[in-house]
Amino acid sequence: MADENITHRSDDGLLKRRNLEGIRPLLITIDGPAGAGKTTISRELSDLLGYRYLDTGALYRGVALKFKQFGVSLEDADGLSRLLQRLEFKLKIVDSGMRLICNDTDITDAIRMPEISMLASAVSAKPVVRDFLMEIQRNIGRQKSIVAEGRDMGTVVFPDADIKFFLNASLKTRALRRFNEHLGVSTQSLEEVETEMHHRDTNDSTRILAPLKPAPEAHIIDSTQLNPHQVVEKMLTIIIDYNSR
Ligand code: C5P
Repeated sequence: MADENITHRSDDGLLKRRNLEGIRPLLITIDGPAGAGKTTISRELSDLLGYRYLDTGALYRGVALKFKQFGVSLEDADGLSRLLQRLEFKLKIVDSGMRLICNDTDITDAIRMPEISMLASAVSAKPVVRDFLMEIQRNIGRQKSIVAEGRDMGTVVFPDADIKFFLNASLKTRALRRFNEHLGVSTQSLEEVETEMHHRDTNDSTRILAPLKPAPEAHIIDSTQLNPHQVVEKMLTIIIDYNSR
């Protein structure tokens, strides 16, 4: 796994206002359920800090997509292991976000299809998948100066992270956000999005391995009534305070 072509946009105004120049290299994690705003917030925060950004959900989605393409059964543990051995993921950070390349094919758009969301949640409960992706994620996180988002960043993958956030929002708000994001791309109704999201939340938070939950020391932020800038402002306050200690 390699990450390459890393570029960052930056908001100089906000940077100066919040005096972020002296922030040292930190490992920051953001966990939370689907639609809580993790991706938008992680990207904005990493841009402002000049950090790299790691969307770990994309990796689980990438495995799910390949799993589907190769027609491996969820019950076929050996088939799944063989498939994983053949996968090589690369992350490419570009201005529009993170691109995921698998065995030289860009699968960034394909992994966003709604049916891949549920499949990603199903494959993510498999120990062999979590072990395979754990190594990739830890290799990237080792370099610090990173904002890593997912479900188990602060609890399992990076228990020693410098700052941990848990971002949440009401189910209705999260479903509406996802529905608006997919307008014109998906035919799912708002009710279907909400039902699927609820199902996925239940799978993700009740599985035995790395269930979705805040780390005990995580800063919990509810974004139901907040826009992305307000969430980032809250996080920056916490980061600046941590940095000054
Ligand atoms: O974040 P995103 O919705 O893209 O993640 C897709 C699925 O991947 C989640 O529903 C979850 O089951 C799984 N996942 C995980 N651990 C992570 C990130 C994602 O289990 N760190």
